[in-house]
Amino acid sequence: MPEITNLSDKIKKQLPAELVNFMQVAGEMAYSQGQSLYLVGGVVRDLLLGQTNLDLDLVLEGDAINLAQQLVEINRGKITTHPRFGTAKLQWDKWSVDLATARSETYVKPGALPRVKPGTINSDLFRRDFTINTMAIYLNPSHYGELIDLYGGRDDLEHKLVRILHEKSFIDDATRIWRGLRYEQRLDFQLEPTTLELLKRNIPMLDTISGDRIRHELELILKEKYPEKILRRAEELEVLPKLHPALKGNGWLAEKFEQARQLTSPDLPPVGLYLALQAYPLTNEENEQLVSHLRLPKSLARTLRDTNSLKTNLESLADPELSPSSIYRLLHGYSSLAITANSLACDSPIACQHIQLFLDELRYVKPTLTGKDLTRMGMAPSPHIKEILNLLHEARLDGEVRSKKGEEELVRRWLDSRGRGAGEVLTNRSKEL
Ligand code: ATP
Ligand code: MG
Repeated sequence: MPEITNLSDKIKKQLPAELVNFMQVAGEMAYSQGQSLYLVGGVVRDLLLGQTNLDLDLVLEGDAINLAQQLVEINRGKITTHPRFGTAKLQWDKWSVDLATARSETYVKPGALPRVKPGTINSDLFRRDFTINTMAIYLNPSHYGELIDLYGGRDDLEHKLVRILHEKSFIDDATRIWRGLRYEQRLDFQLEPTTLELLKRNIPMLDTISGDRIRHELELILKEKYPEKILRRAEELEVLPKLHPALKGNGWLAEKFEQARQLTSPDLPPVGLYLALQAYPLTNEENEQLVSHLRLPKSLARTLRDTNSLKTNLESLADPELSPSSIYRLLHGYSSLAITANSLACDSPIACQHIQLFLDELRYVKPTLTGKDLTRMGMAPSPHIKEILNLLHEARLDGEVRSKKGEEELVRRWLDSRGRGAGEVLTNRSKEL
């Protein structure tokens, strides 16, 4: 008989007391109703690795929504349920816990979402991606903390291997190709040789996956600590061209991602910035192909389009004689992530300096006077007000005026000269003055 491993000490040591307490109460409640509750997936893997993971996934052999509703009454929090999937999410200020009804899945067609029906913990584990993600911990009081490891996940953790559960795994769901690369690189593991062979053989199956699901996997990659490692590996295994054939996972990308991290430290860079850098070498047309292949939401699509179109302004931005107002004109209106991406990616030091000047200073420069001030000074409400405000803005940017008083003087001078030629902008009152 295999030895029983009990992880209750690890749970106590590695998870916050509130969560441990919650799991114990949940296990007791399930037990009192004749059901079994388990902690599953990534958190079990990370407990064994000694890494922090507060993303609790619980699986119940029974109605998870019903249990979640009872638990939320004791622990007052927010509950969201998905009756179609038999899942519920419980949220408190600091934590959230996902509860799912144990299920079994059948894949009718590669890449399509599976047919799902209630099942046992064994069937629920069998539907999972890799052995290291396929362990569970019993939470019922009589067996609290016992590890369930049906597929040798613990051994694979020890040998640092990412291994699928059966040979059709990548055919059933090719997003597992990207997931496999993500875990391999995140944990510094290796794809187990047969898994690697099957992964390579099933790369064409990525064509069966919807753009939305691929984008979701890419976003998970770009939220990792070192996404460039995963992209490099994806290039090496010829997975990357499935995103777009012109994408690269090379040293240039690694350098730019590192610079992005330095810039946003201690936070990780936003996904949009990484994506803009990744798409940087693409032509306009290739960029559009990527946007539609990944069905990018509006804001990400805009970041990518702005980045690409700004790239064509870089030559003008490399002119050392550019005035601040010209720099402003070349850059304003673009999304700030696109500007940042260009500042990291451009190879002209002068253009970079100009972009930096815009980001640090110019974008914040505004004239002190407003449209109201101008009418008070005697201008009739008309499109000329906007024109004068623009001129004032440029004068401010170029350092021709530095104070409110200076602005007023400038406006008066303009009004005087205009008043002589273009009286219509002046009210009678200002003419009298
Ligand atoms: P992470 O640390 O990346 O969040 P995780 O293991 O918690 O790792 P999730 O994406 O949160 O990963 O998914 C939770 C669990 O659901 C996984 O551990 C895995 O068992 C299972 N899972 C997720 N996606 C798939 C998939 N495409 N195919 C099979 N099982 C999956
Ligand atoms: Mg998770």
